[in-house]
Amino acid sequence: MILATSFLQSESFIYVLYIIAFALFIQGLRGLAGPTTAVRGNRIAAVGMAIAVVATLLDRGEGNWGLIALGIALGTAVGIPAARNVKMTAMPQMVALFNGVGGGAVALISWVEFRHHGSTYGEHTVSRTVHQVVGAGGESISVGHAVGFAAVPTYVAIFSVFAAIVGSISFWGSNIAFGKLQEVIPGRPISLGSAQQAVNGLLVVLALAAGIDLIAGAHSELLFIGMLIVAALLGNAVVLPIGGADMPVVISLLNAFTGLSAAATGIALNNPALIVAGMIVGASGSILTNLMAVAMNRSIPAIIAGGFGGGGAVAGAEGAGEHAGTVKSTSAQDAAIQLAYASRVVIVPGYGMAVAQAQHAVRELTKELEKRQVDVSYAIHPVAGRMPGHMNVLLAEADVPYDQLKEMDDANPEFQRTDVSLVIGANDVTNPAAKNTPSSPIYGMPILEVSDSHSVIVIKRSMNPGFAGIENELYYDPKTSMLFGDAKSAVSEIAAELAQI
Ligand code: NDP
Repeated sequence: MILATSFLQSESFIYVLYIIAFALFIQGLRGLAGPTTAVRGNRIAAVGMAIAVVATLLDRGEGNWGLIALGIALGTAVGIPAARNVKMTAMPQMVALFNGVGGGAVALISWVEFRHHGSTYGEHTVSRTVHQVVGAGGESISVGHAVGFAAVPTYVAIFSVFAAIVGSISFWGSNIAFGKLQEVIPGRPISLGSAQQAVNGLLVVLALAAGIDLIAGAHSELLFIGMLIVAALLGNAVVLPIGGADMPVVISLLNAFTGLSAAATGIALNNPALIVAGMIVGASGSILTNLMAVAMNRSIPAIIAGGFGGGGAVAGAEGAGEHAGTVKSTSAQDAAIQLAYASRVVIVPGYGMAVAQAQHAVRELTKELEKRQVDVSYAIHPVAGRMPGHMNVLLAEADVPYDQLKEMDDANPEFQRTDVSLVIGANDVTNPAAKNTPSSPIYGMPILEVSDSHSVIVIKRSMNPGFAGIENELYYDPKTSMLFGDAKSAVSEIAAELAQI
């Protein structure tokens, strides 16, 4: 029994467990690269995480098992129902919340580490006290050694302080992002105007000064708490001025921050699982942030500076009536006839399809078309909707075959030989201004070139703009007909009409 316990707690066994966990993380990530393997990939990574948790518990050996069990029970009780019940459109705020918890945990661990070892920050060695006791014969005896022992290395102090600052920023920033998306706080930018940059700069300087002071050996827990508070203010000050609609990019960025702070804590605690998992999150979060920014043709500093996509504040401002052209509207019946006699139809889903939860109705419509031998595919823009992969997830939920989903680069050359492009609640990702109008805020953003197809039907409720708050030239194109209405009801009506043709 004792032999078995010491084997389970041996360093080599724990390292073997960690290596298995890392292999599973990487295999899981590979799986997430495609819709057919994503669910399996997620499960593989979850098994890896369970193994890493067991290895860490074995490694530490001791601890308050009651508290650990309570933590696991609480996390499970909150996490499982939340993940099962969340709506796809609410996924970004769910990610924000979970990401914030990660950042907060990192900041708290750094605080605990400071309480344990902070008194040795900035020291090279620490001398043990030598006690003098009186022996049985009245003689004086020295107890303990007069030699010093090593203090916490400086790099550990640096990583610990870094993790505390970044973890705190990430926790508070993620909470604000959650609040904006959940509409607990207004989605519009909330800023101090021209003073904002100066205030942010001051907070950065204060947090850094406190951190450097602590690393140099300030030995003050009050200063550490002050540093956490300044970082918390910074998290609020950076995210509050950003518009609600930019939040998915911000969440991805904060996710990268949490990963980096977790990796820093891993270095401070000498825990390889935290280092590897943190670096994977940090690297993938950074890559995702960059991909989203490129797909929106925006720079990350411009997003952080705020201003674009003010959570609906701009919506409607440049709506109908300002364009010189005329808009042609159509009915579900006419749309059904047009689709029934097409030989090739491309469906372009967007944010409106997600809001209306129209994906199942869209699938039914597709089935009706396929009965008539119409070749149907879906063109997916990388930032359609409000989070990466938004459309893929919704369409997978409605059992749309994966081989019908075409990414933008594969879909664009096909539009010229498409009879009807059916745009369902998509707006910016189809706007030709991105190609034709240099003054447009979305100029340069790659788009789905639906205007190349022979005809276009657009389903949306009004002439209101989408996320970018600008008019869409596509709606004034003579080839385009607008079917005004909620995406789910409009698509269902077309399907019902089709069934009667
Ligand atoms: P848009 O936001 O451009 O347009 C969505 C359209 O859907 C609106 O014009 C709206 O028009 C319509 N709509 C809303 N509700 C309904 C409904 N119930 N039924 C029918 N239509 C509806 O969406 P896109 O998908 O085209 O573009 C995504 C935008 O979001 C891009 O600008 C992208 O940069 C941005 N973005 C994307 C992120 C991502 O990761 N995917 C992250 C952050 C931003 P109406 O009100 O008239 O119905």
